[in-house]
Amino acid sequence: MDIELVRGDITEQNVDAVVNAANSSLLGGGGVDGAIHRRGGPSILEECRRIRERSGPLPTGRVVSTTAGDLPARWVIHTVGPVHSTTEDRTHLLTSCYVESLRLADELGARTVAFPAVSAGVYGWPLDDAARVAVAAVREAGTATSDVTTCRFVLFDEPAYVAFDRALRADTG
Ligand code: ADP
Repeated sequence: MDIELVRGDITEQNVDAVVNAANSSLLGGGGVDGAIHRRGGPSILEECRRIRERSGPLPTGRVVSTTAGDLPARWVIHTVGPVHSTTEDRTHLLTSCYVESLRLADELGARTVAFPAVSAGVYGWPLDDAARVAVAAVREAGTATSDVTTCRFVLFDEPAYVAFDRALRADTG
C-alpha cells in the first residue's frame, strides 16, 4: 500500500473513499465534518440519520459508511476520533479509527482512501502525536489490507502537513 501526503481539502480528492472525522451523533459538526456535509450535499446526512436511528450513536474508534453524495468519492467512511486526554492514554482509540476505516474500505472494495488528521482539530490531539499514531496505524493495517492500494493523508494546513511529513520520515516501516 502506498502512503501519500498532500496539503489540501479532503472534499476535493478523487479517491474511492474519504474518511470523515465525525462525532458520535453522526449529525454533522464543524471542521472536516462540516466541510464534507456542505460539499457532499444533504444525502450524506440523510444516510447518517438512518444509521443513527437504527444503531444509535457511533462509539469512539468505530466506523460506518455512507455514499458520498456530490463529492468526487464513492463512499464516506465516518469515524469518531477520541478527544485528547492528558490523564488517560487513548492512543488505541485513535489507532482504531485508522485500522477500522481501512478494514471497512477493504470490505467496500475501495482501492484509494483519503484520511484527514483525525482528532487533531477540535478534539485537541497534539499534531506530532496524532501524525505518529496515524502513520503507524496505517502502516500496520496496510500489510493486512488486500484491496486498498493507496492511502492519502490530506492535511488542511502547513503545520499538519509538516507533522505528517516528519512522522512518515521517522517511521520508515
Ligand atoms: P476532530 O474533531 O476529530 O479534531 P476536526 O475536523 O476539528 O476533527 O479537525 C481534524 C483535522 O481536519 C484538523 O487538522 C483540521 O485542520 C482538518 N480539516 C478541517 N477541514 C478540512 C478539510 N476540508 N479537508 C481536510 N482536512 C480538514
